[in-house]
Amino acid sequence: MNANIPQANAGIEKITIYVPGKSAVPAGVHLHKLSSNESPLGPSPRAIDAYSQAAAKLEYYPDGSASELREAIGRVHSLNPDNIICGNGSDEILSLLANGYLSSGDEAIYSEYGFLVYRIATLAAGAAPVIAPETDYRANVDAILKRVSDKTKLVFLANPNNPTGTYLPIQEVRRLHASLPPHILLVLDAAYAEYVHCDDYEAGIELVSSNQNVVMTRTFSKIFGLASLRIGWAYGPSHVMDTLNRIRGPFNVNAASIAAGSAAIRDREHVAASIAHNDLWLGNISEALQALGLKVTPSVGNFVLIHFGLDKGKTAEDANQYLSERGYVLRGVGGYGLPNALRMSIGTQEANLGVIAALKEFLGADNAR
Ligand SMILES: *Cc1c(COP(=O)(O)O)cnc(C)c1O
Repeated sequence: MNANIPQANAGIEKITIYVPGKSAVPAGVHLHKLSSNESPLGPSPRAIDAYSQAAAKLEYYPDGSASELREAIGRVHSLNPDNIICGNGSDEILSLLANGYLSSGDEAIYSEYGFLVYRIATLAAGAAPVIAPETDYRANVDAILKRVSDKTKLVFLANPNNPTGTYLPIQEVRRLHASLPPHILLVLDAAYAEYVHCDDYEAGIELVSSNQNVVMTRTFSKIFGLASLRIGWAYGPSHVMDTLNRIRGPFNVNAASIAAGSAAIRDREHVAASIAHNDLWLGNISEALQALGLKVTPSVGNFVLIHFGLDKGKTAEDANQYLSERGYVLRGVGGYGLPNALRMSIGTQEANLGVIAALKEFLGADNAR
């Protein structure tokens, strides 16, 4: 410690800077970015149009309460807009939740391969992360409950989770909630909810509506293809919305985002097309990878976690190198404690088929089963 310079708050030094999905390939090679779970179909043309129109009014501050966007979200999901808050990506909302409910001495629980932003938000708020082990790359409710202490204030659960792609059935989420004391806030991060079709899955809207200690976060970065505009939202009880509204930046969502997000969520046809594309390719890719002898964690999201062997020249790092030289950029997940896996976002048909062909070459005919 150097007493001659300002000292950042305790805990900040423990934060490892978030490494975004890469997008670099050799010069002249066509890039297929499959590293950030972005939408291969892009946004709705109506969202692009709304964004362009916003360019004519850049001198005005945005509507600080993002009313148009909250109302559009409310209409689609049948929610009261007063119980919705929008943010600069759901990342911002996760940080607001941490800042609003955690301070020094408190603990936040999340699972072993849970989304990395939970750790960053917890440490930035001065609190201590508590990690619950997973079973088969899936959150384990009993392991989470076992770690609840007098200091626990928040539980973060990504459902489905990134980078594993696994989910907890709503019954398990309910069981988790039922065993948490009422002063602990359960944050359900449903960034990939639109992609899930399992009968036993729910994003958590009903759980939020009927309780005072559950919040659900959502994003426009995935199914809506608007990652660059940074739009997220949360649905929660009035007292939680009040807390977040007090501490957020007064204009935390910009005008172009409000306009584009509102247009995007109203375009149900584009959403349906994006879901159909994912349904088709999530199944195809999972099967094709397994046919190559690779282990794939069963995913309900718009990405798959692929596990590689330990043979020299055939590790995840080797595969990552091989693929990126050919323009296919996947996500290394060593930062999640998964050094021998890669996460692949579902891409365009061309990208998907290209990765499978390249991996077949990489593994060599004798490895393929
Ligand atoms: C992508 C993702 C988000 C969304 O982040 P934004 O800040 O809205 O872009 C949130 N949670 C998880 C688990 C994600 O994978």
